[in-house]
Amino acid sequence: MAQKIQAIRGMNDILPGQSQQWEYLESQVRRLLADYGYQNIRTPIVEDTRLFVRSIGEATDIVEKEMYTFTDALNGDSLTLRPEGTAACLRAVIEHNLLYNTTQRLWYAGPMFRHERPQKGRYRQFHQIGIEALGFAGPDIDAELIAMTADLWRRLGLSDSVKLQINTLGNKEERAAHRAELIRYLEGFQDILDEDGKRRLYSNPLRVLDTKNPALQAMCEGAPRLIDYLGEASLKHYQDWKAMLDALGVAYEENPRLVRGLDYYNLTVFEWVTTELGAQGTVCAGGRYDGLIEELGGKAAPAVGLAMGVERLLLLLQDKGLLPEAAGPDVYLVQQGEGAPRYALLLAGALRAAGVSVVQHCGEASFKSQMKKADASGAMCAVIVGENEIAAGQAVVKPLRGAGEQVTVALAEVAAAVARLKA
Ligand code: ATP
Ligand code: MG
Repeated sequence: MAQKIQAIRGMNDILPGQSQQWEYLESQVRRLLADYGYQNIRTPIVEDTRLFVRSIGEATDIVEKEMYTFTDALNGDSLTLRPEGTAACLRAVIEHNLLYNTTQRLWYAGPMFRHERPQKGRYRQFHQIGIEALGFAGPDIDAELIAMTADLWRRLGLSDSVKLQINTLGNKEERAAHRAELIRYLEGFQDILDEDGKRRLYSNPLRVLDTKNPALQAMCEGAPRLIDYLGEASLKHYQDWKAMLDALGVAYEENPRLVRGLDYYNLTVFEWVTTELGAQGTVCAGGRYDGLIEELGGKAAPAVGLAMGVERLLLLLQDKGLLPEAAGPDVYLVQQGEGAPRYALLLAGALRAAGVSVVQHCGEASFKSQMKKADASGAMCAVIVGENEIAAGQAVVKPLRGAGEQVTVALAEVAAAVARLKA
């Protein structure tokens, strides 16, 4: 036998059985987003590398070491598999002028690519559902995003499993003033800083405080706090947002060290976190990025967004037993004898036209083996046609699960008999 070729490490197949769970989550999210008036946008998976370097920031983990970047062999362009969705979404919005005299509420879903060490809840191809609200400056839209995600957890049964952490990052000037003080403070700890800390000290000092290293906790506790550097406008945005969360009845924890791993955030940042997935506990994260549209060449406009990790949400739903059983078809159509395949084909078509889902048995097999397959398919009932039924213009409807009697009915009555079982 020829040697088998395997999937790329950290990139998973989503197989039948699993895919139904994905479809369940996707359909819940689609319904939610429709209820809030968000519109779907679909952009290419590959973009010009400069788009991500400029938006995510050179001194971030993603750009420093996680991007799948390659040279287009035909023209030498540097291309990158998207590591996140916001940059690509904004590129499209700017390119097609979607913010001309208006605002946009957008969402997208699909694979993202980051070269990380694969582990539970962390993959190299993973999937996000992203939501972006563009052109809104006030804290009310920030609150809408929180209301919407809280609503989703409610619909999924996850309200007790995730907790909201929030923080504010102020504006550029406030961050710059704080940054200078923070660097001065951290320089006093050169001897205990770990490798990540040393690397980020000058490039991204806020991220130094984001460490999970226990040896650095005391240093983090004593660091100058960004919130003490905020002016009136930034503080008001934060306070108004919190007041709206209070009004919504959404509980939150203020985490002054929540910074997010991308450079473009300002003011509002938040994460929905669970303690049930180990270190990969963040299932949804987001914040405001008011400067990014202008930085990417568009006309300045405020913006806020979030991304959910689909794999992590599914792991959580699985752990909690909150995923629905995979449903079989309404009918497995068993057929045998002279002319039966053709008869079954037409009957299956008529049933589907009447709103009944049908898996038709294909190929020659004994009644017994077909009935086994019918059972294994998870179908609610078997519809059986043999030579006698064909001669009489009838079919047998045999329930496979639940109550109900086997009946023999005229062809035109089959759909109604199945519907009675469904009810
Ligand atoms: P983390 O700190 O866990 O690495 P992040 O800050 O890099 O997350 P974001 O860029 O904010 O993550 O992405 C939003 C969400 O996408 C995360 O909260 C998480 O649920 C999911 N996510 C990010 N990276 C991965 C990955 N490699 N595999 C699976 N899910 C991921
Ligand atoms: Mg990461």
